[in-house]
Amino acid sequence: MTTLWLPEIDPTDVLAPGEKLRLMAVHAHPDDESSKGAATMARYVDQGVEVLVVTCTGGERGDILNPGLKDRADILENIAEIRKAEMDRARAILGVDQVWLGFVDSGLPEGDPLPPLPEGCFALEDVATASAGLVGHMRSFRPHVVTTYNENGGYPHPDHIMCHKVTIAAFEAANDPAAYPEAGTPWQPLKLYYDVGFSQAKIEVLDEAMLAEGLESPFEEMRRRWSEWAGKMRAPVITTRIPAADWFERRDAALLAHATQVDPKGLFFKVPLDLQKRAWGTEDYELARSAVKTSFPEDDLFAGIRLDDAS
Ligand SMILES: [Zn+2]
Repeated sequence: MTTLWLPEIDPTDVLAPGEKLRLMAVHAHPDDESSKGAATMARYVDQGVEVLVVTCTGGERGDILNPGLKDRADILENIAEIRKAEMDRARAILGVDQVWLGFVDSGLPEGDPLPPLPEGCFALEDVATASAGLVGHMRSFRPHVVTTYNENGGYPHPDHIMCHKVTIAAFEAANDPAAYPEAGTPWQPLKLYYDVGFSQAKIEVLDEAMLAEGLESPFEEMRRRWSEWAGKMRAPVITTRIPAADWFERRDAALLAHATQVDPKGLFFKVPLDLQKRAWGTEDYELARSAVKTSFPEDDLFAGIRLDDAS
């Protein structure tokens, strides 16, 4: 288990009876909130949890993945504004609040050797400086739970790895009165999770479920790539499975709202929803840090925090 246990905090000291629970999800680009943990967020919104998505960059260098919108000059020229409008639609569908940190997308470098990252991009920022804004949001929103990506970024995009570093730095600094004194009153989020979008087991289960129904499986290629990656990275440890099948439609609708970034005929949409719900109806997480007691496996990001659990 990789959970780092922090000095214990009694949830009754930081949560008044009847007070809403608060979840913060830190993401690299607009659209990441809809492809990673979106059904979990929609579920918690419906339960009355306050959910704030923090988006590090504007996604200005995202490739246009929707074949129907490719090579359109009007889109390429206005991509920053278009991505803001797409984010507004996704936010409304999920029912979350959302803020921008205002950094510039680094783009996904491709080639051998890889080209240098563009000047001024998020991944080249100094981590301590770049964390200041997120510390401010942690101190004003006061999340009980924070989610982000693991040290590998979930997948190796420089902005995803930077998003991890900035979230860790902010999580560590948020309750330190000596750090960023101008950023508000210190606050200790109680838990930090890494999103586990895909795992070896999930890919295998979905692949086999598709084949069992006689459907062409898009996961065959993914299984191959995954085993290539597997040797290079720490395998995620799933500590927490959130039953989220009833919110998969909302997840897909939010993802489709990022119209320039999503191929509506792509991998995400080739797997029938009822098969997804049956074969793997959870969204999965790894508890990275905790200041409350809990036991594994969890089925709730707020396990150990909800006051009704304590009785
Ligand atoms: Zn991204």
